[in-house]
Amino acid sequence: MNKKKIYSNYKKKINLYKKFNKAYYDLNQPNVSDKDYDELKKEILKLEENYKFLESKFSPNNIVGYKPSKNFKKSLHKVPMLSLGNAFSEEDLINFEKKITNYLSIKNSYKIFYSAEPKIDGISASLIFKNGKFHKGLSRGDGKEGEDITKNLNTIQDIPKEIYHKDFPEEIDIRGEVFIQNSDFKSLNEKFANPRNAASGSLRQKNPEETKKIPLKFIAYTFGYEKGLMVNNQSDFLKKLSQWGFKTNPLNKLITGIKNLMKNYDEIEKKRANLDFDIDGIVYKVNDFAMQRRLGNVANAPRWAIAHKFSSNKAVSKILDIEIQIGRTGALTPVAKIQPINIGGVIVSNATLHNEDEINRKDIRIDDTAVIERAGDVIPHILSVDKQKRSKNSKKFMFPKNCPSCGSETIKEFNNVTKKVDAVRRCSSEGYYCDKISIEKLKHFISKEAFNIDGFGKKIVENFWKLKFIKYPQDIFNLDFLKIENLDGWGKLSVQNLKYSIDQKKTISLERFIYSLGIRHIGLENAKLLSKHFVSFSEFKKLSKQNDYEDMLNIDGIGETQVNSIKNFFSNETNQQVLNELEKVLFIKDAIQNSDDGILKNKTFLVTGKLNGISRAEVKSLIEENSGKIVSSVSKKLNYLITGDKPTKKKIDNAKQLDIKVIDQAEFLKMLNKAS
Ligand code: NAD
Repeated sequence: MNKKKIYSNYKKKINLYKKFNKAYYDLNQPNVSDKDYDELKKEILKLEENYKFLESKFSPNNIVGYKPSKNFKKSLHKVPMLSLGNAFSEEDLINFEKKITNYLSIKNSYKIFYSAEPKIDGISASLIFKNGKFHKGLSRGDGKEGEDITKNLNTIQDIPKEIYHKDFPEEIDIRGEVFIQNSDFKSLNEKFANPRNAASGSLRQKNPEETKKIPLKFIAYTFGYEKGLMVNNQSDFLKKLSQWGFKTNPLNKLITGIKNLMKNYDEIEKKRANLDFDIDGIVYKVNDFAMQRRLGNVANAPRWAIAHKFSSNKAVSKILDIEIQIGRTGALTPVAKIQPINIGGVIVSNATLHNEDEINRKDIRIDDTAVIERAGDVIPHILSVDKQKRSKNSKKFMFPKNCPSCGSETIKEFNNVTKKVDAVRRCSSEGYYCDKISIEKLKHFISKEAFNIDGFGKKIVENFWKLKFIKYPQDIFNLDFLKIENLDGWGKLSVQNLKYSIDQKKTISLERFIYSLGIRHIGLENAKLLSKHFVSFSEFKKLSKQNDYEDMLNIDGIGETQVNSIKNFFSNETNQQVLNELEKVLFIKDAIQNSDDGILKNKTFLVTGKLNGISRAEVKSLIEENSGKIVSSVSKKLNYLITGDKPTKKKIDNAKQLDIKVIDQAEFLKMLNKAS
């Protein structure tokens, strides 16, 4: 890579870093996970290390937090409020101590004592006291200048407003963390992703009356500027803080030796889920103030302290219960309900257990202490359980032999293709007999690729089901709208809209119809193959009368598994009734044999963004019916880029560069001679 390219790559990362900082510190709405943020930070630092010519005043090495918001008066910190260096492993801690002994030129064997303090994940504040009175309070801001949030801090009960102890310094700024307890966070609305964002958002309200409504807490842990402080070390200072009336962390400890720091870290990590405040690591501070002064600071963090962070994708918590969820095809999926825990900025309270085999293999039980992993976008899952922490009364989890919803026997099927017994256990009832399966079938019926009824989502299915408005798919087309109008949250207009959306979808293509039935193993592609084969609904329905299913094996792409599944579907009387009833209310269009000579012949398309009232699958069918083709990326092979709501800017830019026509939904429909 040449210098110019390296610099432009670096600049891009710095800009992204600035954007993430603003979202997190200023707006309290992070737009990436902590893990992704930390990774970007590492990438920038790595680039700076490898290419010495790279520098920026916005480098993670130079900045703290974010500049103060315009909503508040600004005020300078007499002593800067810094960030902390991070450690993630024992090796990092060994290096941290080595640097200290080198810097101070002391023997490796010298016992350095550390104040080990759980790092509360909140927002730091500086409280200036003059002659025992709380005078002014500031946020950290960019470390040099903070926001004057005195009025907001005044609403916090944990903060003493007057202190009359003889040894309380004449002037001092006490620093600590403003946070929200997990139990209080639960009862707040869902505006914030985690307690830290909630605390920061509530503390930095323009109107202090709004702050007052939130039960914020304060824990003190350090000081900035002081005049008249008579203490020589951190652990004594923490004791003084509590004598002066401040709350301090009951889990603070004085420790020496890396092994002991690690032991304390492991113990606290296990306790974490049971604490009523969120912590994201342990802060170690050299206990002796004289040593601290000699060590001083690097650009944005003290040399004498480090934050030993907890993993941002793993955490230890307790399994409160194991619930069995039942899917559309009857699959029983176990889910662990866990004591809520913050993993990398996201509160996790459910973890998938995959299937019965997984539970048996790992011997996962209710009440177990477990390690939960949440990596990327993958659903959180249980990595392992701590068998030593189990009580004597712990019982092996017995996977239900009967469906928890309908009581039918549960079975594990033998897969003829793999010649193995399936790992998944299923409810043996057929479809609509089991309530849970039935609801899931309805959700599938209205899903995007199936009927895609505007305004008719999963929540409505659940609600209408509970109210006994719907049980079978045909009920959706025979709703009593007067009853709906009288429900909470519904009105004339919304009911009219719903009715309109349902009526709109009474005409449907055969392939989408087949897909919407939710026959096991018949996804979109197979539904398309079947629709091409049968051409009309009446031909498809004949399957209910005939015994010869073998003919379908001639369809390229349809195998024994699919044929057996279709056979099962048609052998069920309820399914046949559903087909009869749906036939009465729907117009199911015959499959269009795609002509090779349609209006879109030799034309290629790609969609970006959300289209209005038409799903991606529908657009694809429309294009293919008219001999056009969908491609998967912007390249010279693309002729038209169709844009909807919130399109990907990069795709549009690339398309423009390649002189590709960028059209909207209306223009696309016009090409097909359809009104938009
Ligand atoms: P930091 O991790 O450098 O730690 C310093 C802070 O720790 C202090 O300001 C203080 O608030 C807190 N603290 C708690 N207990 C303490 C104690 N006993 N002694 C001293 N300090 C204590 O803080 P930072 O630089 O503000 O934030 C970095 C963290 O924020 C990272 O974990 C990062 O992932 C996260 N972050 C995430 C995003 C995102 O977009 N997801 C953006 C920015 C920062």
